[in-house]
Amino acid sequence: MKKSLSTRLMYSFMTIIIIVVVGITAGISYLIADYFFQIKEQELAEKGDEMGETVEAFIRLQDRDMLYRYILAVDKLVGARIWLFDDNYELLAASNYENVQETGENASMKDFLKYGAPSQQVLQESVRKLDQDMKSSNLSYRIKVILNDVYAGKSFKSQIYHPYYKEQVILVGVPYTFGKGHTGAILLIEPLSGFEKFLRNVYIYIMIVGIVAIIFSLFLVKRLSGMIIRPVLDMKDNAQAMAAGDYSHRLQVHGDDEIAELGNALNSLGKDLGDYIAKMERTEKIRRDFVANVSHELRTPITIIRGYNEAICDGMVTDTDLIQRYRGLINEETVRLERMVRELLDISRLESSDPLTVSNMDELPLAGIIRNVAEKLSVRCMKHNITINVHADDNIKILGDGDQMVQLIMILCDNALKYSPENGTVSIGANKLDDGGVLVTVSDQGKGIPEEDIPFIWERFYKVEKSHCRSVPGTGLGLAIAKEIIRVHGASAEVISKCGSGTTFEIKFPKDKVV
Ligand code: ADP
Repeated sequence: MKKSLSTRLMYSFMTIIIIVVVGITAGISYLIADYFFQIKEQELAEKGDEMGETVEAFIRLQDRDMLYRYILAVDKLVGARIWLFDDNYELLAASNYENVQETGENASMKDFLKYGAPSQQVLQESVRKLDQDMKSSNLSYRIKVILNDVYAGKSFKSQIYHPYYKEQVILVGVPYTFGKGHTGAILLIEPLSGFEKFLRNVYIYIMIVGIVAIIFSLFLVKRLSGMIIRPVLDMKDNAQAMAAGDYSHRLQVHGDDEIAELGNALNSLGKDLGDYIAKMERTEKIRRDFVANVSHELRTPITIIRGYNEAICDGMVTDTDLIQRYRGLINEETVRLERMVRELLDISRLESSDPLTVSNMDELPLAGIIRNVAEKLSVRCMKHNITINVHADDNIKILGDGDQMVQLIMILCDNALKYSPENGTVSIGANKLDDGGVLVTVSDQGKGIPEEDIPFIWERFYKVEKSHCRSVPGTGLGLAIAKEIIRVHGASAEVISKCGSGTTFEIKFPKDKVV
């Protein structure tokens, strides 16, 4: 059967408490018993030693009556039964209190004082009865073993089950001397019923403490459940939500313990997974758009080429001038197609390359590159009566790939020319910045780019509102290539444009790319 964490916690607490309670009980009862027995045995042994002389005197005086009464009095004083033996296993006297009590004459010390002493016959009778009982049972053998020790001059101390009193007792035997070097034995027997009652009370007390501890532990488990199990259940829900594709759930994290750390880890996992999935979806959309765009953009010139070519080949067009015009158009579309394929290859090559490192960068004279590009475009400028102004600092050298740098400047200048009006001016600049970087600017006086289109002009095939540049040839791939060149050079780009008054592209190369 599945056990919840709180049930396991409860069982663990209860097991620990039970082990602790049993351990404490066993330890305490052992220590108390040991201490009690030592004290009691010592006390009885001392009493026995003290009795020796008095007993010897009564024996010497042969005053048996006084001997009985003395032993009875000591019994009541010490609370132990006293058996007095001569040197030959013979019971001389015994405070056989129970037997005396049975006579109804002496129930206690109070009664003893109230009713006076029992008669000598009664006492003698009780000793005789005890002697008889002892000899008729196997007690006699066990007593003999103890007496042998005492006769040998040793004190005997032990806790035993006494068959005569039928209970656990402390038995202490001490020797005494009488007559001419005879050794007798005094046995002091104290029942343990009082002590056992005391131990019982200790057990009850510990049991109550144990029960209180178990009840307390149940409350503790409930509280712990709230602190540990609830967050764990929340985490389970969170994980299930993530498995179902919902990464928006966030856990409420309190404190800074291990549970809180796990909660934080799950929250950041959810966020990272959410971001990653969103990025993947965006990438997938771009890929799908790209494939659709490529197919569309490639199909257009191919369709045009095929149409004109078929018209010529099928002999549908016979007019030489028209055929010549068609050939010119086929040539134009072929060039466009070739350019598009080349640019697509450039993009895919650049996209898969990492940022440039020192080993694959050269020192590039920026002003020279800019002038070179401007010169290449000069024929086109003249055609459209466009002026190109170059104001570049000749001392600027940056680290980069020469071909890519030419391509970047060419794309920006080509666009500036394409979108410039007749008689317009295109300005190209390269200047050092205060922070040590270099700023390359390409400005025109064209129609500008609407603000909402600016973030998208770097996308592949993106063209601002088709009508805006319907007459302007272009594949829509130039700025996508420029974006990748800027990325591999660790540079950044900004577009400042105002509809009707022109556009400025600013490319900033960081200090570490400037020589
Ligand atoms: P294209 O080959 O069509 O020029 P680009 O990627 O170079 O493609 O440019 C993307 C679009 O950004 C262009 O179609 C044009 O709408 C806009 N654009 C780029 N440069 C300029 C500019 N200097 N002035 C106005 N619009 C521009």
